[in-house]
Amino acid sequence: MGKRILVTGGAGFLGSHLCERLLEAGHDVLCVDNYFTGTKANVMSCLDNPRFELMRHDVTFPLYVEVDEIYNLACPASPVHYQHDPVQTTKTSVHGAINMLGLAKRVRAKIFQASTSEVYGDPTVHPQVEDYRGHVNPIGPRACYDEGKRCAETLFFDYHRQHKLRIKVARIFNTYGPRMHPNDGRVVSNFIVQALKGEDITIYGDGMQTRAFCYVDDLLDGWLRLMDHTPDDFTGPVNIGNPVEMPIRHLAEKILDKVGGKGKLVFAPLPVDDPMQRCPDISLAREVLKWEPKVGLDTGLTKTIAFFDELLKSNRTVSRV
Ligand code: NAD
Ligand code: UDP
Ligand code: UDP
Repeated sequence: MGKRILVTGGAGFLGSHLCERLLEAGHDVLCVDNYFTGTKANVMSCLDNPRFELMRHDVTFPLYVEVDEIYNLACPASPVHYQHDPVQTTKTSVHGAINMLGLAKRVRAKIFQASTSEVYGDPTVHPQVEDYRGHVNPIGPRACYDEGKRCAETLFFDYHRQHKLRIKVARIFNTYGPRMHPNDGRVVSNFIVQALKGEDITIYGDGMQTRAFCYVDDLLDGWLRLMDHTPDDFTGPVNIGNPVEMPIRHLAEKILDKVGGKGKLVFAPLPVDDPMQRCPDISLAREVLKWEPKVGLDTGLTKTIAFFDELLKSNRTVSRV
């Protein structure tokens, strides 16, 4: 039997892939989005499906609907977007969480939170394990996102303890794939767009800071296992990401090589509070979810490059920012 599932932020990069997967599994999907960074174009493939409904709504305001499950993704995810209106970013994470938890409480829905590796800040423990409490600057330019997401986790666990809500919290590490926003300043989209346009590749700092990149399909496999195949008393938080870590400079060289771009590597200042290293420890996900990523960087980048190539040729406009 299909369930009625609410996806907030469903018109964004990850949300649109999730809506597709849930429809394929036979569920009814209500996608709620204020189109800050997401677009209707992202969910174009869903619009003809009678089990899909799209609603423009800002999660900082209450929402009264009847659903069985909620995936709470609404929140800008890239530094340029979440720093564009930092107060709104915190409101989205905190008021958004309160409203979605209040809704889940009223209808007794199971609720998933898209948390982030940013709750670990600029980590002093490496790779990051779930019981590491993090190293976040509470007043820096990334704080609206990091602290907003930390407070959302607090709310999830208090609703769980106080109101016996069924919660699932995933800490997501850097993810890439088709439908990333071309202007969101994230490293994978920036490098691919620059390489395709024949521009120079902008490396912030010396490029020796590290990240580990997970392909979107792998990430969603992990989310669905967490939501559907773990007992209700397994709440997380659980790290979901790909543990293959690399310096940003290597990523730049790899993308230039794959695209055959003519640009060179140019260096710009490192943004304030930019974490120096990040890599998930996914032992818990391996053990409890029986999950690990399968898509290698080469395969994932090929698919992502094809998406951006098509997007640049089509000259489509994207979202408000
Ligand atoms: P995205 O920006 O593409 O998607 C976010 C969506 O939320 C957009 O469609 C946007 O319009 C919508 N939104 C923003 N504020 C809203 C509001 N107040 N009300 C309703 N909708 C709102 O980003 P994404 O990469 O798809 O990220 C989805 C979620 O996953 C976010 O919560 C993000 O923090 C989390 N996450 C993503 C990554 C990653 O690498 N992509 C890593 C860690 C965590
Ligand atoms: N809420 C919502 N939809 C619902 C139920 C609640 O958006 O179906 C919002 C409402 O704004 C409320 C918040 O969720 O203030 C928290 O709800 P809760 O019941 O936890 O607390 P309340 O503020 O109602 O005491
Ligand atoms: N970065 C870079 N050049 C760019 C965009 C990003 O060198 O054009 C760096 C950025 O400073 C950071 C890393 O790549 O060290 C990942 O950045 P992103 O914004 O994608 O994700 P996050 O910092 O949130 O992990």
